[in-house]
Parts: sequence; C-alpha cells; structure tokens
Amino acid sequence: MAVMALHGHGGPSVIGMERIPVPRAAPGEFRVRVLACGVCGHDALARSGRIPSASDAVLGHEIAGVVDSVGDDSLAAWLGRRVALVQRRPCGVCADCLTGSTNQCRSGPGFYGDDVQGGYAEFVLADPLNAVLLPDSIDDATGAVLSCGVGTGFRAINASGCGSGDALLITGSAGGVGLNAVALAASRGISVFAATSSEAKGKALLEAGAVEVLVRPDAGTVRAAAARHGFRRGVNAVLELTGAPTFALAVRSLAPRGRVVLVGNVDPRTLGLEGGLVIVKELSVTGSAHATREDLEAVVELVASGALLSPRTHSRPLREVVAAHAALDARTQIGRTVVIP
Ligand SMILES: [Zn+2]
Ligand SMILES: [Zn+2]
Repeated sequence: MAVMALHGHGGPSVIGMERIPVPRAAPGEFRVRVLACGVCGHDALARSGRIPSASDAVLGHEIAGVVDSVGDDSLAAWLGRRVALVQRRPCGVCADCLTGSTNQCRSGPGFYGDDVQGGYAEFVLADPLNAVLLPDSIDDATGAVLSCGVGTGFRAINASGCGSGDALLITGSAGGVGLNAVALAASRGISVFAATSSEAKGKALLEAGAVEVLVRPDAGTVRAAAARHGFRRGVNAVLELTGAPTFALAVRSLAPRGRVVLVGNVDPRTLGLEGGLVIVKELSVTGSAHATREDLEAVVELVASGALLSPRTHSRPLREVVAAHAALDARTQIGRTVVIP
C-alpha cells in the first residue's frame, strides 16, 4: 500500500511516498481502510524532531475509515462499518484504562504515528477500544478530526471547570483545535475571549461564537475585554493551546481561583511560572491530553444532533500532505487540513 512516510526529521520535504505491506489484523483487532486523515500540529512537531518519533514513521492520528477486515469472528459486526478512531490505542486492562484514563495507557499498542503506523496510509489497524461508529450524517473529513480536533477541546473545557456564565480565554484560538473549542465553549453559554496572532482570522472566530477576538493581546488587553463583559477580576480559565509564547499572558489574565489548562505546546520550551501570582490568587495549572473514546462518543453525538457545527476542514489528496505540513508550519490556515488516500 502507499504511505507518506518520514525520511528523517526536518522540514515538510522529509515526508515522501513509500510502499509497505498492507497490515493484517490480529485476533481482537480490525483493519480500517482510511477514508480521511487530519494533519495536526502534533505531526509537525514529530516531523521536525521536536517530540520523539521514529525517523521513518508514518504519521497521522486523526483517522476515519471503514472496517475492511477483522482479526477474529467476534468482531464480524464491525465489518463494513464507518468508524472514527481515537488517536491512542489503549490496552483496556491496566489501572489507567480501568479508571477511565485510557489516554494515559502505556500498555496498549499506542499512539498512531508515534508508536504504531499512522493514517498517512491506505490502511491502519484499530480495535473496539479506540473506534466509534460514525453516523451517515457525519462525512469522512469531519469524522477524521473529531477525536483530536474537537475531542481535545471538549476534554480541556471539561477540565477547565467552566460552565454557563463563566469567562474563558482561548489562546491559539484560530487553529485546528482552537476554532472548535471556541464553538464548543460558546454553545455551553461560556463567554469566550479568542486570542489569535492574526487579524485575518477574527471573522471565523466571531462566527464560531467568541464574544471578542483579541489579536496578539497582552494581559491588560484581556482583562479590559473581560471587564467590558462584566468579568471585573479577569477570566475564570484559560485554554492554553499555544504554550510558551502565551503562557505568561494566560496566567496574568486569570481572576482569583482561575485555572490554566495546558493543551498545546507548539514551542516546547520550559514555561516560566510566577509563583507569587499563583499563591496570592490561588491559581491552578493543569494539563489535558488528547481525548478518550468516551470524549469522542460525546463529540460524535454533539455533531450528529446539530448541537455543534461540523468543524472546518479542507481536503486534499494524501500525496499533498507535504504541502499541508508547509501550510501548518506557516500557520496560514483556518481549521484542519484532511488528506484522502
Ligand atoms: Zn491531532
Ligand atoms: Zn491500558
């Protein structure tokens, strides 16, 4: 089968076409013919060597497809069904899995692209622990990005503790996760302040439901915007989708007892934390990683029911994944690019 694989670490051009054997499903798993695969910031970090990945990896962890063969008869009901996949295949039996933290499992096959062959390919392996059936009303490209592009924000908003009537700052808000997180939070009655590096992305953010778009704000700008909407002491929480470049802003924008939820890490530098501020304002900093099968199920239901609009996607053929990476590096795109094998 054709795959787009890494040939070393570096710029987008290290990704090239290769042919490898079609994988075979072992008992307990099934094979999925990939219908669409999202191109994520995580992929760009892995490609450039900023996070560990094999130098010949087949990346791609945002996958929708159709089950085309099963490893044993007990899985026959999955044959021919369209599925969206969670980015990590857990084991289902370790202490993390048994307490619902399947995103923390390190005993299963692992993360597509990092640990197992990913979705820049015609086929991948999966199993019932990381697959959710897709209703006909959700198209392939949307199905592909639901777990990472939407589920990540879904999980992080839950972690933020924000609900109706609260104020939430989202940094890196125009990216693939950000735009969906803005829409998701707004749909819950949260006042969303969308921070972005680009004026051009403002319209899409307002359409997604942001109460204000803040272009390259400082903490004073965020706090003034929050005050205009009745949040005199600052925002209740921040979804930090960028990391080091905006982390100080995130902490300084918070009201007392505010929470920063770290989700994105585009620039994997060590973060500086003003200890005094954390103590005096009783702030919390927490992480939120990817999504679980339960998160994906909830997101599929939200989109299928119309409660959440389908995320913005742009499809291109798999062989153009190099150009998709270049666009990701340049941060010029709105929403998610999806490649089609
Ligand atoms: Zn992703
Ligand atoms: Zn496990």
